[in-house]
Amino acid sequence: MATTISELDALLMQRSLTDPELLAATEQADNVRILPDATVIKVGGQSMIDRGRSAVYPLVDEIVSVRKAHKLLIGTGAGTRARHLYSIAAGLNLPAGVLSQLGASVADQNAAMLGQLLAKHGISSVDSAGLSAVPLYLEEVNAVVFSGMPPYGLWVRPAAQGVIPPYRTDAGCFLVAEQFGCKAMIYVKDENGLYTANPKTAKDATFIPRISVDEMKARGLQDSILEFPVLDLLKAARHIREVQVVNGLVPGNLTRALAGEHVGTIITAS
Ligand code: ADP
Ligand code: MG
Repeated sequence: MATTISELDALLMQRSLTDPELLAATEQADNVRILPDATVIKVGGQSMIDRGRSAVYPLVDEIVSVRKAHKLLIGTGAGTRARHLYSIAAGLNLPAGVLSQLGASVADQNAAMLGQLLAKHGISSVDSAGLSAVPLYLEEVNAVVFSGMPPYGLWVRPAAQGVIPPYRTDAGCFLVAEQFGCKAMIYVKDENGLYTANPKTAKDATFIPRISVDEMKARGLQDSILEFPVLDLLKAARHIREVQVVNGLVPGNLTRALAGEHVGTIITAS
């Protein structure tokens, strides 16, 4: 049964904003896809940018070449400097909201550096991915750099335990892709994808090319290659129903993933 505007209007005026009938009525039509041709890629902080020139220069070259054929929203991770800040701030008994602001400043630094390296190719970094000039940049040069931390800052929803902000740059980049109804979400990290255990410490870990959120949880892998809240965001997503994790240290992987090839691990919502 289709709800007319006036029926929806009546529900919105009379009911609680979390009333089940009201919520269903607001969702009768598909969400608009704001940037359906763009792909969000997240460049890892610890896994890529912290490795410096040997990891970043080849990736920059690949981005410059691949953006001729693809529209890219390039989000940055935070990494080791954020971990250092978290350890100091947590030691000072500061709350999650403050740590969230501190982490954002490191993702900002990484976006600034990536932006400088891409500047001569006409690619800018923006202070906030919340649209404004983003569509124009995408139209003109097919790419734009943004800071991957979601701007919750002091208003971050704290985790059940501890003061580490649960929504960090994996989540921030995912939410950009989902809210804009982008074509795909690709995480560029330093391993070939998901393994049965952390390949940096477990030598017998085996590679998993494709897995669903539920399977990942069933196998105890919810807190592994992606921040764990991303799995629930993915499961509830309307547009981004799978994400791909690729090894950015292998030249060509990003290009192949953007071309629709199955490189790395694909994590599916269902
Ligand atoms: P980013 O730089 O994007 O923040 P992270 O360093 O947080 O990326 O996450 C990637 C890391 O996750 C990998 O370098 C790897 O060591 C670790 N990791 C932990 N568990 C797993 C797993 N089961 N499979 C693959 N990688 C894992
Ligand atoms: Mg991380």
